[in-house]
Amino acid sequence: MFEFSSIEQYHQSLQEGNITCAEAVAHYLEQIKKTGRLNAFIEVYEEEALQKARELDNQRRQARPLGKLHGVVIGIKDVLCHKDHLLTASSKILEGFTSIYSATAIERLLTEDAIIIGRLNCDEFAMGSTNENSAYGKVLNALDETRIPGGSSGGSAVAVQAGLCMVSLGSDTGGSVRQPADLCGIVGLKPTYGRISRYGLIAYASSFDQIGIFSKNIPDAALLLEVMAGADDFDSTVSERPVEQYSSSLTENKKYRIAFFNEALDHPSLDPEISKAMKGTLEDLRQKGHNVQPVEFDLLEYIVPAYYVLTTAEASSNLSRYDGIKYGYRTPVATDGLTEFYKETRSKGFGKEVRRRIMLGTFVLSSGYYDAYFTRAQKVRKLLYEKIKLIFNQFDFIFLPTTPAIAFRIGEKMTDPISMYLADIYTVMANLAGIPAISVPLYTHSSGMPFGLQVLSGRFNELSLLRVSNKLMEQYPKQK
Ligand code: GLN
Repeated sequence: MFEFSSIEQYHQSLQEGNITCAEAVAHYLEQIKKTGRLNAFIEVYEEEALQKARELDNQRRQARPLGKLHGVVIGIKDVLCHKDHLLTASSKILEGFTSIYSATAIERLLTEDAIIIGRLNCDEFAMGSTNENSAYGKVLNALDETRIPGGSSGGSAVAVQAGLCMVSLGSDTGGSVRQPADLCGIVGLKPTYGRISRYGLIAYASSFDQIGIFSKNIPDAALLLEVMAGADDFDSTVSERPVEQYSSSLTENKKYRIAFFNEALDHPSLDPEISKAMKGTLEDLRQKGHNVQPVEFDLLEYIVPAYYVLTTAEASSNLSRYDGIKYGYRTPVATDGLTEFYKETRSKGFGKEVRRRIMLGTFVLSSGYYDAYFTRAQKVRKLLYEKIKLIFNQFDFIFLPTTPAIAFRIGEKMTDPISMYLADIYTVMANLAGIPAISVPLYTHSSGMPFGLQVLSGRFNELSLLRVSNKLMEQYPKQK
């Protein structure tokens, strides 16, 4: 039976003739079928993936040069444009919509000979933390099917967790890659804002959104980042900085300067077991000679509210394009005038959480309340930005929990959106500040569920972030 451990090993097996791309794809197709109840995939490109695999196998036989992602089987979140494929953002409002172009990130994967095996379930328009807000149904955590996998990229996380593809893509606006990675026990990387082009990524909150990567190990995430990152004429917010060869320079022996916040580790919402595990790791690193220090951080209580004001404001504008006229779902009901038509289409086309956020966003931008909410939230963002800059003048990394608790039970938080929002306390910081962050799967809870350690670094310092994460995974193989 085919067993995947890393892209490097897979490539070696291909070269040695122990496996073919077609066999790898067939293996994943079978696993996907067997685990259909997890509901990770919205659509599987069965024939297309097999066909591509056969072509790649032929290419290898003819000793033609191989792409960096030759035959790598990848699943993509249903918010990424993939030419001539359906794309819905897990929303009824985009039912039947076919992409007419591919996202830059997807183009780059394909140029390096990746095989895209299917489209992955997520919260509608990437809004949520449990994958329960999908028009295609919830996704189950493969380690305990009574629990959520996290969100919004729940399908992408489970696809890697359950071995349904090698690596996957998600999007991270406030934690949607790191949080499900944490709850599923895998690696989740959110790069710096502007590292990977957002062209072809369905917008939720444009000044926060970033494409992210799920993998089982750090070298695979590094390789995918290396392929997708870098300047793009179609997205002016992407940095022109040259892209480092992340995957070939992961080892380093250095004493790091690590900051942590007591306000975060002693927060009342944090599971004491998670706090204890993290404190243990920090202490151990200190004993190994790293410079580990607490930094005062008094903005913790403000960042979730600021995040929800700013992202809903941006979402209310971004989602105004779904009007039933240009594309997607259109109400079949005969309406009296254009306003009624919009109302009918958007009320039926969008789910409850998306409607809630559009209304909240419209409210915080309305003329009478703009200064009270939107402007103040922008001020918090600015303060956080300054604070983070100061911290990274003195430290290489900030260590934080990824989430305050292990994966909750399905349905547990659906009636309490505020408590669901508050659970984003540790992830939204990186998006507000535009810095890279990663969830590294280091721990197992007494319940048997996994959780991770979150590492944040300065802008465009992905290389250091990946190096330290690699080291952590080597040094602390799944602690109890
Ligand atoms: N849980 C966050 C939210 O609901 C994260 C979303 C995301 O990163 N796309 O907004």
